[in-house]
Amino acid sequence: MKEIGCQLLVIGAGPGGYVAAIRAGQLGLDTVVVERARPGGTCLTIGCIPSKALIHAADEFHRLTVMATGASPLGITAARPAIELSRTMAWKDDIVGRLTSGVSGLLKRAGVKLVAGNARFRDGRTVEVETETGLQVVRAEQIVIATGSEPVALPSLPFGGAVISSTEALALEEVPKSLAVVGGGYIGLELGTAFAKLGAKVTVVEAEARILPQYDAELTRPVARRLAALGVEVLTEARAKGIVGGGKGLLVETGGKESRIAAASVLVTVGRRPVTEGFGREELALDMAGPFIKIDEQCRTSMRGIFAIGDVTGEPMLAHRAMAQGEMVAEIAAGHKAAWDKRAVPAVCFTDPEIVTVGLSPDEARAGGREIRSGLFPLSANGRAMTMESDAGFVRVVARADNHLVLGIQAVGQGVSELSAAFGLALEMGARLEDVAGTIHTHPTQGEAFQEAALKALGRAIHI
Ligand code: FAD
Ligand code: NAD
Repeated sequence: MKEIGCQLLVIGAGPGGYVAAIRAGQLGLDTVVVERARPGGTCLTIGCIPSKALIHAADEFHRLTVMATGASPLGITAARPAIELSRTMAWKDDIVGRLTSGVSGLLKRAGVKLVAGNARFRDGRTVEVETETGLQVVRAEQIVIATGSEPVALPSLPFGGAVISSTEALALEEVPKSLAVVGGGYIGLELGTAFAKLGAKVTVVEAEARILPQYDAELTRPVARRLAALGVEVLTEARAKGIVGGGKGLLVETGGKESRIAAASVLVTVGRRPVTEGFGREELALDMAGPFIKIDEQCRTSMRGIFAIGDVTGEPMLAHRAMAQGEMVAEIAAGHKAAWDKRAVPAVCFTDPEIVTVGLSPDEARAGGREIRSGLFPLSANGRAMTMESDAGFVRVVARADNHLVLGIQAVGQGVSELSAAFGLALEMGARLEDVAGTIHTHPTQGEAFQEAALKALGRAIHI
């Protein structure tokens, strides 16, 4: 049995853990990170990056499919495209490989020791790691738990065979003829849309009254319309009851009635749950917040010297939140003053069209008892959006009525994910409507819709 000591030990090398470790190394802390799978975590290996690769491939394929029908308004016709999904997956795997070895390289450059294996707490200062070459004991002055999350299974649809999670969906070698997606949230709609564009007959089974229930209805309407145009059937207030006919279909209950839908594969995407078992949590006395590890504004847990970051600490379960927490915790561990004082965590849903939210929606802002002003600018009045055949959607700005401080910005439209940086910056810098309206936005870009939405809220939009 080998034993090492360090100042900071990080468990899990996902976006939370690897960023914490790199920053800690940069700050001169003797740092060890333990990872049982591949560096990069869910995000790089089975989440954000592979899903966006598949979405891109599906978009390209679908564009050519439309051109092959002669229906493209651009006057372009093309031969009917074909796809070898196994080659698409190999291309995706190459991107993942480059990124995960990039993370290993960054850890090395920061002087961080990466230990491969499963970590388990022995006590609040000691962790043992089952490595390929035997047990490695790591004693640490401070520890960061960054164990992430995993897909939730449904009792009626346990994973296995035709019932898959996002991990298996992102490794399919062939496009299924029919795909039932249980859960019309982030993953279900991002991947469901991609497989529909690749030619699968997709049915979404959502328990709530509408898809993406966490967003306001105005934002999700263009997505619902596009799904319909792509031939995706959406069943709302519906429950999946189980597989029927030897794995050839899915039994669904809607409004008390049972029906069977075609499903060569059933993708279950009903949420993710924090990984709080399997690392010896029972050896510790950590307070919990529901299923998550409870943390304060410095990501400290209830035990001195133990931090927790990322998906294991709660919503929103997003990679950039985990990274920001990771960076902050490294600063604190190195003795610097820092606390979570972010004004907003932007969120993007990479559906077609994409949805961006930063800060408060109009309803959330009103719920605080505030008087608000909001301005909405449709992309149908934006020149750049028209030239890209992407004029469905809008940008909406929400501000305080009294001093015009921007409280929230939302957008729905093709490619609007790239506007999220400008939206986040405006909120973080405490911009007022006049700041956004008075900033020269490049023409022709979709960003002009942000400026116009601010002008609209001020009652002086130019282009509408
Ligand atoms: P994780 O990335 O889950 O990393 C945790 C790591 O800890 C894992 O590598 C795991 O192997 C390791 N680990 C766990 N226990 C142990 C142990 N005992 N010993 C050693 N190692 C251990 N978020 C976005 O912001 N944008 C997106 O576009 C996006 N798309 C997504 C698409 C999909 C299909 C999925 C599934 C998720 C997506 N997410 C997206 C969410 C994002 O992946 C997570 O929020 C993010 O990865 C969380 O980072 P984390 O560091 O907390 O945990
Ligand atoms: P989700 O919470 O986004 O969506 C789950 C959906 O399933 C909800 O609409 C819910 O109403 C529905 N549902 C729950 N139980 C159901 C049931 N029994 N039958 C039918 N529908 C049911 O969860 P997800 O799509 O699994 O994604 C998990 C998390 O991963 C997200 O919350 C997000 O934090 C992260 N993620 C982010 C991105 C992104 O940032 N673009 C992409 C993918 C995943």
